[in-house]
Amino acid sequence: MGRIYNFSAGPAVLPEEVLKEAAEEMLDYKGTGMSVMEMSHRSKAYEEIIHTAEADLRELMNIPDNYKVLFLQGGASQQFAMIPMNLMKNKKAAYIITGQWAKKAYQEAQIYGEAVAVASSADKTFSYIPDCSDLAIPEDADYVYICENNTIYGTKFWQLPNTKGKTLVADVSSCFLSEPVDVTKYGVIYGGVQKNIGPAGVVICIIREDLITEDTLPGTPTMLKYKIHADNGSMYNTPPAYGIYICGKVFQWLKKQGGLKVIKERNEKKAKILYDFLDESKLFRGTVEKKDRSLMNVPFVTGDEELDAKFVKEAKATGFENLKGHRSVGGMRASIYNAMPTKGVEKLVEFMRQFEAANKK
Ligand SMILES: *Cc1c(COP(=O)(O)O)cnc(C)c1O
Repeated sequence: MGRIYNFSAGPAVLPEEVLKEAAEEMLDYKGTGMSVMEMSHRSKAYEEIIHTAEADLRELMNIPDNYKVLFLQGGASQQFAMIPMNLMKNKKAAYIITGQWAKKAYQEAQIYGEAVAVASSADKTFSYIPDCSDLAIPEDADYVYICENNTIYGTKFWQLPNTKGKTLVADVSSCFLSEPVDVTKYGVIYGGVQKNIGPAGVVICIIREDLITEDTLPGTPTMLKYKIHADNGSMYNTPPAYGIYICGKVFQWLKKQGGLKVIKERNEKKAKILYDFLDESKLFRGTVEKKDRSLMNVPFVTGDEELDAKFVKEAKATGFENLKGHRSVGGMRASIYNAMPTKGVEKLVEFMRQFEAANKK
């Protein structure tokens, strides 16, 4: 069997070219006689891998010199704790609750200080992004936290909140490198890479230097201090070496595609194919307010749970995998990250049309 169209929300599809290259280098990485998995992270070959990866990411995102790029472990979820432990000097922070991941981060922060929910879209099952132009952000809040793209619900902040001068911290796990960003608007940008960049096990944290201090909450483990990782170039201990190597290959792939501006245009065209169909369909409909639609995660329903289940089953049999919605919301979700070819979305829509014709009521 060949490769199928994989609409998984994460771990997710990776560029085929990257996988092929990794396969070619599996047994003998560039004449070292070993796999990247087997080599010392202090070796010359590996140093070049991690340095090139960082340099390419800096180039792609246009990351200013006063920001550090850290390759960490523990998943995006570990950042839910690491952020308050390192940033909550006043033991207070503002959280915008736009879905489960934001809520989890908010709940975790409550262990360390006062996390204040300044806005939420829970009233309509997180189907929109609340107005964040004039929030009641506490004077002494250390930061304002958002989950920029809500993987489960399919919403995206197309406008960043007015933080009233406070540091913005953003979880970008599911929109990382999907579009150009102005890094200077953030204090911290972080994400698990298994959604849009690489294999699970790596978290990339882009953090402004002045936020990296010795002054962490009492009891913060060494491994959870940004400073220790920054001072050691992400090599305080053994980094997730193979994962970083694959991320590096994806960065090169993105550069070859023409960079993030080109990728965004492609993502917009790709998502439009699916959204246009959802808007005209008599059977399927999108579940998210149009202005807040994500380009990466597209949830939709028929309005009939049995029919949803039938669709997921028949889609799978046709070669479209992982279209089932998150277990907390049901329905369907197509995650169409950078590496999902436009053809995959075109074929999915073709299949949805056929399904609609066969199941019209
Ligand atoms: C998947 C996801 C997470 C959790 O990632 P882990 O690496 O499993 O901890 C957090 N935030 C967002 C936005 C996600 O999509």
